This record gives sequence, C-alpha cells and structure tokens, in this order.
Amino acid sequence: MIQRTDLRNIAIIAHVDHGKTTLVDAMLKQSRIFRQNQQVEERVLDSNALERERGITILAKNTAVNYRGVKINIVDTPGHADFGGEVERVMNMVDGVLLLVDAVDGPMPQTKFVLRKALQAGHHAIVVVNKIDRPQARPNHVVNETFDLFVDLGATDEQAEFATIYTNALLGHAGRSPLKLHDSLEPLFECILDRIPPPTVDVEGPVQFLVTTSSYDEYKGKILTGRLVRGTIRKGQPLVRIARDGTISPVKVSQIFVYNGLERQEVEQAQAGDIIAIAGISDAAIGDTIADALAPEALPPIKVEEPTVRMT
Ligand code: GDP
Repeated sequence: MIQRTDLRNIAIIAHVDHGKTTLVDAMLKQSRIFRQNQQVEERVLDSNALERERGITILAKNTAVNYRGVKINIVDTPGHADFGGEVERVMNMVDGVLLLVDAVDGPMPQTKFVLRKALQAGHHAIVVVNKIDRPQARPNHVVNETFDLFVDLGATDEQAEFATIYTNALLGHAGRSPLKLHDSLEPLFECILDRIPPPTVDVEGPVQFLVTTSSYDEYKGKILTGRLVRGTIRKGQPLVRIARDGTISPVKVSQIFVYNGLERQEVEQAQAGDIIAIAGISDAAIGDTIADALAPEALPPIKVEEPTVRMT
C-alpha cells in the first residue's frame, strides 16, 4: 500500500446559489496561476478563455485543480434530493467533502441529506463560509448553526471538529478567520491538503475500477467514470467486467482519461486512487467492477436504485 500524497479527492456540497460555481472557478484560475508561477511563466490569462470556462464549470461534474504539486479532484454532488443513490456513489469516490455555506443564510435543509451521507461514509468536512463580504454576514452564527447540524446528523466528535475557512469567492479570497482574508485561496488549498486524507492504495495489485457514472460521448461512445480502487490500468490491457449479478465478461479499454481543469485528458495509464474515465466498454453499467482478467475480484456493491428522498 502506498499513500498518494500527490492526490486528494473531494466532493463539494452546497445549496444552490451559495457560490459553488464561483468558488470552483476561482480555484481553477488560481491553480493555473500557481502553476504558472512555479514554471516562471509570465502569461496573462486570456479573459475570454476564462469566461468560456466559467460557462462550462456549471456543467462539469468532475474538475481537477493542481496546488503545490498535488492534484485535487473535485466532484460535484447533486444539490438535495438523491436520484438513484447518486449521492452515495459520489461519497464512495472521494475521501472528504467541502461543505459550502452562505455567510448570511447558513446551512440549508436541502444540503442536510447530502451532508448526512458524507458523515455516514465516515468523511471529514471542511466548512467553507462563503460570501463573507455580504453586509449582513454573520459568520460566527453560521458556524454555530453548522456545528449543531453536524451534531443533529450524528457526526462523531472528530467529524464535529471540522475546519472552517471563510471566503469571498467572487474575489478569490480566503482566510482562517472571518476578520482577515488572504488575497488568494491559499488557506483553502492548504486546508484541503492538511485535512483531507490522501488515498492509501495498492498500485501494484490487480485492477479494480468501480463504475460510478456513465455518460455518452458522440465520438468515444460510452464513458464510464469512477475511482480506480486498486492497481494500474493501461490501455489495451485484458480486463473483465463483473456485473452486479456476478457475471464475468471480457472487455478492453480503448481510452483512459484523467481530469485536468475542466477537461478530460487522455493518458496511457492511471494509478489507483485517481478518479478516471474510460472508453471502449459499451455494455457496462453503474455498480459493475472492471477488473484484471487474471484476478477478477468484484468490489463491494454500491447502491444504485433507491426512492427519491424529499427533504422538508
Ligand atoms: P451556485 O449556484 O452555488 O453555483 O452559485 P454561483 O457560484 O452561481 O453564485 C450565486 C451568486 O452568488 C452569483 O451571483 C455570484 O456572483 C454570487 N457570489 C458567489 N460568491 C460570492 C461571494 O463570495 N460574495 C458575494 N457577495 N457574492 C458571491
């Protein structure tokens, strides 16, 4: 087993309008600036490109940013109601969550369901109190409300000791105190590195990939997304699909992608711990395991269907 200290996988939970898009957008911009500084490249960002990206952020389910040599995969979660167990599946894919709350409104009932699932999955949360610049902001009160919510949801003592970061996502500023924001999101990035555990994985064992979402691409066909739980997956490698009923059939992966900014980037291979997308397997379904043909072992089943839960 190795610790992928170069990687973090987080889900972002937010009530609509609390600033998720704006925050992820600022993280994307700043991670590019950090990277450019590292490479001592002085290139002014093309504002048109950023505007274009902004439009796309809303649609991207998976985003990845780089900070100090660490790749942070950010997975979006459905806002409130759970459709077919999607929230659980997302929680299965990550190692911690960012809970974004508005500094005026505080935590909303609709995010309760998602937060409960995150806590049940054993995850730690970083609470991000956003819109700290709003005149009626009441950050301390909001943090207390959030703490009460954690307790109501049955958080463990450890989970209830969440880290809090205060942000103005519009300006891309963050701080550990509501009274003093840094003029970048560095405190947030540092907190993610510090508080979210890196995946501990076996990169040499037989491949195990859990099909978590499935989408369709006009050119590439079916795209399966999920976490590579074990091993190193390579293009063209002999693999099998283990269906939920245990049926095993041979498959071949034609393309492997990792996330980079808002894009899917094709790679020759990927290592356990990362969130990846694979193409070439047309008949797999959510909940299936893609495994090494020589040592096919299914992953524990994940919830795929369940009634939609309504929050009051
Ligand atoms: P989402 O629905 O959670 O993705 O929310 P958006 O990112 O679209 O933000 C909702 C609104 O809040 C937009 O009008 C943003 O400009 C605004 N907003 C986001 N972050 C901040 C902030 O830190 N301060 C203020 N004042 N407004 C913000």
